Amino acid sequence: MKIAILPGDGIGPEIVAEAVKVLKALGLTFEMQSAPVGGAAYEAAGHPLPPATLELAQSADAILFGAVGDWKYDKLERALRPEQAILGLRKALGLFANFRPAICHEQLVGASSLKPELVAGLDILIVRELTGDIYFGQPRGRRKAPDGPFAGADEAFDTMRYARPEIERIARVAFEAARQRKRRVTSVDKANVLETFQFWKDVVSEVHQDYPDVQLDHMYVDNAAMQLVKEPKKFDVIVTGNMFGDILSDEASMLTGSIGMLPSASLNEKKQGLYEPSHGSAPDIAGKGLANPLATILSAAMMLRFSLNQPEAAERIEAAVGRVLAQGLRTPDIWSEGTSSVNTAEMGDAVVRAL
Ligand code: ATP
Ligand code: MG
Repeated sequence: MKIAILPGDGIGPEIVAEAVKVLKALGLTFEMQSAPVGGAAYEAAGHPLPPATLELAQSADAILFGAVGDWKYDKLERALRPEQAILGLRKALGLFANFRPAICHEQLVGASSLKPELVAGLDILIVRELTGDIYFGQPRGRRKAPDGPFAGADEAFDTMRYARPEIERIARVAFEAARQRKRRVTSVDKANVLETFQFWKDVVSEVHQDYPDVQLDHMYVDNAAMQLVKEPKKFDVIVTGNMFGDILSDEASMLTGSIGMLPSASLNEKKQGLYEPSHGSAPDIAGKGLANPLATILSAAMMLRFSLNQPEAAERIEAAVGRVLAQGLRTPDIWSEGTSSVNTAEMGDAVVRAL
């Protein structure tokens, strides 16, 4: 089992170090190899995703990724910015399925912005398609409007598109995931307005024929955004396109308390995956021991489950995180009256002890 360790920038190195500690404490044999990525790689090798880092990522069964980015790179040309590393990895490895669980840990119910009864026991999985949609569709660009009421004015345009195989494969991933859970999938679209999402809805319904044991509902994205704050526990698995998934997964993350708790996984057809916290590099708190490492530690658990075929080890880590929270240990982002404040490394050490 080979794991590529890509710590990146900002709080990335600190939180990844804690996840590596936890992985080492499992007593399993992994080959772990590190490489720079993002701004750190730009400093070291002149590119956010140097060939050696990409080769390591491609040769590994899974990638544990910290975060990339810092304000100081904002002036670089787009191709050299740290964020390009993650786009390059998604593309090179064909990572099309993004899993973002939104789980409200029992001990953190009070940290959510919603009423306790709405989020206690919350456990949603958002499956976001990552390679298509309006983010990558061609043509796109700027021009003079060729027609319409603003003909001749400057305009910009993007193209929303999805191909049948692209929808089929993400739908299958969602139905398979639902089989491990409550067997309910909500496909989120905007079929009333967009042809792309009428097609999405049709194809998801077709794929559903192969999963009669899973319940499928369709919901418009505007309604889904509303239901997520009104009655979030009604959802089990949400499957949707790249843009709606981007927005809804950030919305769902706020149901759970802190972004510092939320893991994510991006998988390809071979179940090779990139695992990273849902949050970014948080340069404002980097190097201060304030970062919550639990999102990254829980990402390592997802890695064990989805890419390394070690579901029991994944459960051990998740249970250890639960125990540490039950002990009242909190990094500042999840701290509340009556709990004990710990720093990044102390939190990692506590998880190792709980294991
Ligand atoms: P990106 O564009 O990379 O997603 P962002 O601008 O959305 O970055 P984040 O890096 O995700 O921002 O962080 C937003 C804020 O949340 C940070 O300024 C930080 O204070 C807080 N934060 C993020 N991650 C953590 C963490 N692991 N522990 C504690 N606080 C965090
Ligand atoms: Mg962000």
